[in-house]
Amino acid sequence: MLSETLERVGALLSGHFLLSSGRHSDRFIQKFRILENPAELAPLAQAIAEHFLSAAPTVVVSAAVGGILLGHEVARALGTRSIFVEKERGEPHLRRGFSLGPSDRALVVEDVVTTGQSVREVLDIVHGRGASVVGIGAIVCRGAVALDAPLFALLDLPLDSYAAGECPQCASGVPLEDPGSRRV
Ligand SMILES: [Zn+2]
Repeated sequence: MLSETLERVGALLSGHFLLSSGRHSDRFIQKFRILENPAELAPLAQAIAEHFLSAAPTVVVSAAVGGILLGHEVARALGTRSIFVEKERGEPHLRRGFSLGPSDRALVVEDVVTTGQSVREVLDIVHGRGASVVGIGAIVCRGAVALDAPLFALLDLPLDSYAAGECPQCASGVPLEDPGSRRV
C-alpha cells in the first residue's frame, strides 16, 4: 500500500496540523521524505511511467523543485528527457536551453497535486510551445482539481481541513502542531 510506504518514510503524517492556509487538518504530507529517497521513489515513478507508456511521451515536464526529482525518475523509466519549469522573477519559464516544440508529446509530472496551480503553469508553458500533453502523473492528489489533461495519481487523499473554530481536534483539546517548523 502506497499510504503505508508514505507513512513509513515520514511523508504522510497523522496528527493535528496547522496548514499554511491557516486551516487545521489531521493529515500532513512532507513530500521530501519520499522525494529524498531514490530507492523508495523509483517504484512510484515506474508505476506512473507504466500508466503512460502506451501514450508514448517524448519528454517529461515538471515544476521545480520537488517535481524535478520525480520527473527525473519517471523519465528514466520511460527513456525520455526530463525538463522542468522554474520561476524567474515570479513567472514560470523553461530555462537552461530546454527544448520543447510541436513534435513533442509531454507527460507532465507533479509530486503532490492540491490546487493544481503549478500543474496549470506547466501546462500553459507546454501548450505555449505547441507541444501536446499526454497526461499528468502524480504521486498524490489532494483535491478535486479541474485540469485540461487526464490526471493519474497513485494515491487519492482528499484534503480535509477545518477552520480553527470548527476543528474537532481543537474541540477535543489535542495540541496543534505547526509542520511549517519542519518544512524549512
Ligand atoms: Zn484544530
